[in-house]
Parts: sequence; C-alpha cells; structure tokens
Amino acid sequence: MSGEADIKYECVRCGAVTTASELAQLPELKCICGYRVFRKVRPPVVKQLKAV
Ligand SMILES: [Zn+2]
Repeated sequence: MSGEADIKYECVRCGAVTTASELAQLPELKCICGYRVFRKVRPPVVKQLKAV
C-alpha cells in the first residue's frame, strides 16, 4: 500500500466533507455554505485479518 492519506475535513455546520487538497485550491478556507469551521475526519481504520 502506498500513497499519501488525503486528510478530510467536515464542515461542522452543514457536514459537507472536503479533502485537504480541495481546500488547498480554494482562495480561502471556507465551506460551500460559507462556514469556516471544519473538523478533521479520521479515515476509518481497516484492520487486516489473516485467516490462519
Ligand atoms: Zn458547510
């Protein structure tokens, strides 16, 4: 597995999820709804189970 994890941010007001790279392209850190408060969304941890 390779690649950088694209951190996601969720708008605390409307719940719209934006990735860090998408936010980087915006002139200012702002949601589509106009709100500016985001919280980081942790990617779900996938546990690999080995069948023995
Ligand atoms: Zn929003």
